[in-house]
Amino acid sequence: MDSEVKKLLKSHSLRLTQSRGDVISVFLDKQVAISHSDIETEIDGKYDRVTIYRTLKSFMDKGLIHKVLDDSGATRYALCHDECSEDSHKHNHIHFKCQECDETTCLELVDIPEVKLPAGFEALESNYLVSGVCNKCNQ
Ligand SMILES: [Zn+2]
Ligand SMILES: [Zn+2]
Ligand SMILES: [Zn+2]
Repeated sequence: MDSEVKKLLKSHSLRLTQSRGDVISVFLDKQVAISHSDIETEIDGKYDRVTIYRTLKSFMDKGLIHKVLDDSGATRYALCHDECSEDSHKHNHIHFKCQECDETTCLELVDIPEVKLPAGFEALESNYLVSGVCNKCNQ
């Protein structure tokens, strides 16, 4: 298992296990948002659905990955690049879905615009998806 994997798990106070190491490696390889079934395909039946689900949940709880909602209705997940921790996820970036390559990426540098809510409403989480053609497909 490579040192980047170990470092990531350690810095989020997650004990190193084979399944955690394998799943986080998929995220590091892909660098785009991936779904539960993408992970299943990548690890090729090495772990069952429940193990993958638990692994993803522990990563989310510790601030290592975050949910990415896209228009397909499938939940995807992406690595957190900010200082997320067990207590809170700190990012506020938009996600971009490419209609050509079908990849969803985090645009870390683009903030979700502030939304004015009516009195009595309190925002806890926002999801902002822009779809179009990504910079790779646009070349
Ligand atoms: Zn996060
Ligand atoms: Zn694309
Ligand atoms: Zn993201």
